[in-house]
Amino acid sequence: MIIFNHVYKEYKNGVVALDDVTLEIPSGDFVFLVGASGAGKSTMIKLLIREEQVSKGSIRIDDTDITAMPKFKIPKLRREVGVVFQDYRLLNRKTVFENIAYALEITGESSREIKKRVEAVLETVHLEDKQNCYPTELSGGESQRVSIARAMIHRPKILVCDEPTGNLDFDTAKDIMDALDRFNQEGVTIVMATHAREIVDAMQKRVVSLDGGSILFDQESAGYYENPQ
Ligand code: ADP
Ligand code: ADP
Repeated sequence: MIIFNHVYKEYKNGVVALDDVTLEIPSGDFVFLVGASGAGKSTMIKLLIREEQVSKGSIRIDDTDITAMPKFKIPKLRREVGVVFQDYRLLNRKTVFENIAYALEITGESSREIKKRVEAVLETVHLEDKQNCYPTELSGGESQRVSIARAMIHRPKILVCDEPTGNLDFDTAKDIMDALDRFNQEGVTIVMATHAREIVDAMQKRVVSLDGGSILFDQESAGYYENPQ
């Protein structure tokens, strides 16, 4: 369970990005954060991985108040909350396999365990045949699926995505959504910030719509512009 409790975020320049956001996301949920550019979507994502800190209020993940968490625990948080960005952020000098394995090497897993886990996660994103390719040899959709595989290698219970389909056409974006859906069906909570209206309409998941840092509506099985009334 993720709980935003009266979260307020003001950046140093005085911009109020979130203004009293309260939101509960149960484990296993699939939720879209939608809204115009500047609505506060990325800020919510950044707060969830402690890339930014709240100005007021708190955010709880299960029993942990991540806003009260000491800095030395942030690397552990980032293994428990996977993150995917619009621009993939792959290392161009490493192969697909190495890009994913890299994250595990830091934690000291055996090479046999690393190979097993990397191959398994590549299978879930349907890229088992690309493990020896370099990122420059991949399409945008393939690159994003590698990025998702990397985010999932620590088996996080939560995956947050900031505009993951922003650089992709609709059909390729659908492949990304299929991959996210497969992890969601295994019980992973998905929080995806997007302004891709067609994708949100097609998926019919929970939609939290932000406007000027506040929640405009929050609805199950919705499209981009739906409203409860
Ligand atoms: P979205 O992801 O919905 O486009 P953001 O969360 O990125 O919205 O931004 C919300 C508001 O906060 C915008 O007005 C944006 O310009 C501002 N903002 C975002 N990041 C920063 C920052 N690091 N410093 C100052 N203002 C920021
Ligand atoms: P995206 O559209 O992918 O969410 P943004 O354009 O919102 O990305 O933000 C890109 C980067 O610039 C982020 O690191 C964000 O924190 C920063 N940023 C956004 N708006 C501002 C701002 N008004 N002042 C300073 N930094 C900002």
